Amino acid sequence: MRALVAEDDPISRRLLEAMLVKWGYELIVASSGEEAWRLLQEEDAPRLVILDWMMPGMDGVQICREIRKQEGRPYTYIVLLTAKNEKQDAVEGLHAGADDYVAKPFNPQELKVRLRAGKRVLDLQSELLAARAELQERATHDSLTGLPNRLLFADRLNQCLAAARRRKDLLAVMFLDLDRFKLINDTLGHNAGDQLLRKVADRLKTCLREGDTLARMGGDEFTITLADMQSERDAVAVAQRALDALTDQFLIAGHELFISTSIGISLFPAHGSDVETLVKNADAAMYRAKEQGRNCYKVFSGSLNVDATARVRLESGLRKAIDKDQLVLHYQPRVDIRSGRITGGEALVRWQHPELGLLPPDQFIPVAEETGLIVGLTEWVLRTACDQNMAWQRAGHPIMDVAVNVSARHFQNASLLTAVENALHSSGLAAECLCLELTENALTLNPEAAAGVLRDLKSMGVRLAIDDFGAGRASLNYLKRFPVDVVKIDRSFVRDLTTDPNDAAIAGAVVAMAHSLKLKVVAEGVETLEQLDFLRSLNCDEMQGYFVSRPVRPAAFADLLMEPVAAVIGS
Ligand code: C2E
Ligand code: CA
Ligand code: CA
Repeated sequence: MRALVAEDDPISRRLLEAMLVKWGYELIVASSGEEAWRLLQEEDAPRLVILDWMMPGMDGVQICREIRKQEGRPYTYIVLLTAKNEKQDAVEGLHAGADDYVAKPFNPQELKVRLRAGKRVLDLQSELLAARAELQERATHDSLTGLPNRLLFADRLNQCLAAARRRKDLLAVMFLDLDRFKLINDTLGHNAGDQLLRKVADRLKTCLREGDTLARMGGDEFTITLADMQSERDAVAVAQRALDALTDQFLIAGHELFISTSIGISLFPAHGSDVETLVKNADAAMYRAKEQGRNCYKVFSGSLNVDATARVRLESGLRKAIDKDQLVLHYQPRVDIRSGRITGGEALVRWQHPELGLLPPDQFIPVAEETGLIVGLTEWVLRTACDQNMAWQRAGHPIMDVAVNVSARHFQNASLLTAVENALHSSGLAAECLCLELTENALTLNPEAAAGVLRDLKSMGVRLAIDDFGAGRASLNYLKRFPVDVVKIDRSFVRDLTTDPNDAAIAGAVVAMAHSLKLKVVAEGVETLEQLDFLRSLNCDEMQGYFVSRPVRPAAFADLLMEPVAAVIGS
């Protein structure tokens, strides 16, 4: 314990010094009131102080009064040494702010006990302060990640806003939401989810500049304030950095996880001038980012507000759409490149909206995924597509398979197997006439579980295709682990096939490797004869695209089935 002793009389001073050192105190000694006062102003001044009352110049009582006047000073325990053993003086000393007094000539034993009491008070005080600091920490920080919480975030943002107003600066608020985090939580468990959130927080920290605040709002939502900005571009740069930082795989409990994030950005003063509005608008922009396919950022624009309500309306409308028979399936033919024959079709859902007209899937599938409505929607698609295929077969068309898209969200749901079984059973369709199209995401999210589901599906006899191949990050090698039958080369590669040597090389490699794994290769989005010829030269098996036909209603699809082969392939 450190202590300060102020005593002008050299003999008493040496005596005190000797005793206190013997009792184990670490001592700072002053020989005058002024010197003591100066030492007590130092940052790390002792908190136990023994002051002689009677000193020339500044005396003990004066120092007492001055110490107690200092606001924000950590508590200092003061023992006065008084020569006059009179009650009246003692009261005066206590009144001036002393905690205790010892009369001179003092009894060493008494001084020792009184100092010990002081030390106990100071210890208790420290404990109290630590407890209060911890409470404060807990009230303002998220216990999982240690980041500031919603409360502290609002506080910091308020401070930044005040500063930005003064300096006429720009300021941005970023709202981040992990895409499909719930899926990871549901399939790998909360422990894994927690670990992931912690790692995400760590990576996000590396994207910040000094003065920025990263906070966790709860769940998988994070916010960032960006102070000191020159232009919108600065915020966009940070958003891009955040997206990049989260792209690399996460290793969690032995799983390789890939995640992405959607980010909304709002700017002060353009999009709001208070905490609530800025956060709300960044949140709305984040939803827009999700709608636009996720893994991207979006800067708020005034019209988003309207969109947020439109979204809510869309959501409640979608709930009823299935019951009200507003969903329709269009079918796009798949054609064998060598024979020109139609080998199957892909069922693509549309929503015949009573007010908005025929909506393409990108406008409601993301909402369906977010809300869980995708499960019911996929069940409907499965049933309808199987019934339709059966109807075509009964009408005498050649046997073919119809493909149904299964979103990653539904793939993780245990009800998928039952839904497939039911659709096959109620339609009477042979299992090999149904193909399920899965994206890489469905597999990379939780490869072990995915392999299990695929094996179950495979044992039922349905065909399995990997959709949009090349757009994600899975390698063909990766597919070895899964019992899939078909790989669909993503439209983006086919588009520039004849002009971009890179894409051509990739497409070629995919075909060769897929064949070595005994997989069929389908090229998507074939629009021109040049592309078709090129694919033929690569030995690609099948193709799908506007070159043959857009997705069409069932009746039109039946017409296509009746056309001669050459007409279909256009040669
Ligand atoms: P996808 O599975 O990649 O489906 C192919 C998309 O490419 C379809 O868009 C189709 O119209 C379009 N397409 C076909 N040929 C061409 C072409 O030559 N050029 C161009 N530019 N595009 C072509 P669509 O029908 O708008 O569907 C978009 C996406 O919505 C689908 O992408 C699929 O991921 C999703 N989707 C559609 N129906 C369902 C469904 O029933 N369930 C689920 N979960 N997702 C669905
Ligand atoms: Ca598809
Ligand atoms: Ca596709």
